[in-house]
This record gives sequence, structure tokens and C-alpha cells, in this order.
Amino acid sequence: MTKFGFKVLHQDENARAGRLTTPHGVVNTPCFTPVGTQATVKALTARDLKEIGVELLFGNTYHLHLRPGGEVVKKMGGLSKFMSWNGPTITDSGGFQVFSLAKTLGRLKGPVSGFSPASAPSFAKASVGKPFSSAAMPLVAERQSGVESPSTRATLSDNENFESFPRSNSEKSLVKITENGVKFRSHLDGSLHYFTPEESIKIQQKLGADLILCFDDCPPYPSDYTHVKNAVERTHRWALRSLKAAQGKHNNSRQAIYGVIQGGIYKDLRKESAKFISGLDFDGIAIGGVAVGEGKKEMLDVLNWVGPLLPKEKPRHLLGVGEVDDIFEIIERGIDTFDCVIPTRLGRTGFAFVSSSEGNIKNRFRIDIGKTKWQTSKLPLDKNCDCYTCKNYTRAYINHLFRSKELLAYHLLSYHNTYFIINLTKKIREAILEDKFQSLKKDWLV
Ligand SMILES: [Zn+2]
Repeated sequence: MTKFGFKVLHQDENARAGRLTTPHGVVNTPCFTPVGTQATVKALTARDLKEIGVELLFGNTYHLHLRPGGEVVKKMGGLSKFMSWNGPTITDSGGFQVFSLAKTLGRLKGPVSGFSPASAPSFAKASVGKPFSSAAMPLVAERQSGVESPSTRATLSDNENFESFPRSNSEKSLVKITENGVKFRSHLDGSLHYFTPEESIKIQQKLGADLILCFDDCPPYPSDYTHVKNAVERTHRWALRSLKAAQGKHNNSRQAIYGVIQGGIYKDLRKESAKFISGLDFDGIAIGGVAVGEGKKEMLDVLNWVGPLLPKEKPRHLLGVGEVDDIFEIIERGIDTFDCVIPTRLGRTGFAFVSSSEGNIKNRFRIDIGKTKWQTSKLPLDKNCDCYTCKNYTRAYINHLFRSKELLAYHLLSYHNTYFIINLTKKIREAILEDKFQSLKKDWLV
């Protein structure tokens, strides 16, 4: 039986090309990991994902625990088999979504247990007091306002509108954070759940991904120093408990466990967390608490601080990052795998990635396919793309589908966007192997 393994094959300065071995197959790194929140990468089949060249898929424990539940997934042979993907998978601990549940409620109603108004994210403050439904459909709101959600990890709002959210009870009671864990109510039906480090690992064992994450305390952004310091210390205590649970009697030796580094935008906390997590017996290291609303510079600072402290022989996963320019920057700083909802989220909101020449940092390498100017365009979404969408369809046709809200629009756009990011990452891998990373980066980010 294949177990977990990782090998760095080549380094071009700090950028690494490597190989992850898992029970469900090999992952060539650096590798972009599409997010299949509810055991599906939205609008794409497993066949599409194989055709696109995806090697690793990301699932969300929070969502899968609530529906269909770990037991169901286990009975169906585990996440990979359940979704007919049959390749390598990684799950998060569920913590991020539970904490973002608290954050979402903070945005809607002011303080929630564990969060003070001062620590509520600034984007959230702006919308406090708006009707529930406007915050409930952020994708529509994003599209209309042109302001994107600051988080590029799968949030609750990526999946549900919150129309059915239980609102009659005191919303304060929906999320309660204590030293032992987090008690919360399901955003689907109001049922009560309790995530502890042990419970998160137990659920992830049932889901059966190749790579699992320890349960961490994710403070919102911005949060003051004391708040983040407490969250880091708790994350470390929870890391020890997660590790013990993963190595305990229910141990499934086929699963590799990653520790998670926290620390917000505070240098000493990030360094302390990197040292602590690196010192434990984890198979890999994940960096959390980025792409939560901080600027790009802050995100890169975090990587600059923690990078040199990470063990070279262990794989590194960055949670929730995947814009075109970010991909170059994070790989340059030694990240091996990273997940992001952007390709499919953009697909659903009518944006398509375009490569250099048409795409640049200013337009964020994307076009808005809904614009009138594409109504009679015979161009493919991207002139340099070989994907199924680009080989067969015009911008005019996809513009028509999108404006008519036809389901095929979301499929074609999500297919292209995922292909685009997967193949960009593959090009970067080849460049690293040939010591040409910097020249490729220059070609793209002029
Ligand atoms: Zn394409």
C-alpha cells in the first residue's frame, strides 16, 4: 500500500519542484488544488478534472460533515471514490468555515461570541445593518458592486444563500468558542454541532482524504495583537491535540497530517508559530490565516517571515491563494501546493482568465465576458489557451449564454479558468526544473 511521501526534485532559488506521493496517486508540485467544497468542483465533472490535468482536490470538512456527513462518505468508499475522482485529495479541518460563520454573523448583527466589534473585518463593518439577503448572496452582490469578497477560501457564502439560516434564536448562540473547541449551529438547518481538534480529525478520517489538516483557531482580519496571540497559542495547543488524535487508536496510516501556522500579520507571532509547528511530527506544513482580507504585501510578508523557518523536506500548503500574480509570488517563496476557489467562483460570475499580452496585473488577468463588446467577438476566451472551451467556443457565444443565465456558461467558464490556472502552474514547474523561473515570471508580471 502506497504511503505518503514527498521529495524536492529541484530548486530554482527558493522555488521548488517536487513530487508528493499519496495512496491515491502522485502529485507533481508546485500544484494548484481546485476546491471541491461539497465533494464537487462546481460545474465540473471528474472527467473534466482529469482532462484538465488536475492532480489534487480540496474538500471542506465543515460542509461535508453537515451534508451528507462523514459516515455516508465513509460508507461510499471515502471522498475520492464518492465523487468518482479516484485521485489524491486533501481536506481542511472545518475550523475556517466555523470561524467564518462567526464572522458572517458579526457582519450581519454586530458582535458574536468570541469576536468584538473592534475585531470585525472592515469590509464587514461596511455592510452591518444591511438586510440579511444582500449579504446572503455575495456572488451576486460582488458582480453588481465590482467588490470581491476578501476571502479566496471556500466560505459559507460560496455555497448557500442564507435565506434558510435560523434567525429566530439569539444569533449569539450560533457560534461559541472555548478552549475545548467550537460549538455552532449548522447554517443549513440550525442543528447543533461541536468541533474539537479530536472531532475534526475523526470526521476527516471518515472522509478519508490523503492529506488532512489539524484544527486551528482562525482569527478574523483585522484583529488586534492580543487577540491573534491568544489564537496562535490555542492553535498550538489544538495542533498537539490534533496530532495525538491522528496518531491514536483510530489511526489510518494512509493519511498524512499537516500542521497549520497562524499569527495574522504579526511577525513575531508568525515566526513563533512557524517554529512551533515545524518542531512537531507533522507530515506537512500548512499556512493559514492569509487571503482573509489583508493586502498582498502583508500576505507576502508572512511567507517571507515563515519560509526560512520551515523544514525543507516537508511539503508546504498555502490555504486559499490563487490569483495569477500571487501564484508566481508564493511559488517563489517555496510553496508547494495551494488551493483557491477563484477559477470556479470567477466562472460563475462571468469572468475568464486571459494570458499575458491581453492579461496583466492591472486587469488581474481577466475579462468580463458579460460585456456588450464581446457580443460579436469570434475570439476564444484566451488566444493562447488549448482548453476544450477555447478550442470550440467564441466569446460571442459565451457572452450570450452568460447573459441568458444558461447553465452551460458556468461550465465553459469554470472549465477554462481551472485549465488556465492548472496549466500556468505546470509551466511554472517546468521553468523551475530548467532554472528559468525568473524569466517566466518577468514574461507574465511585466
Ligand atoms: Zn481555455
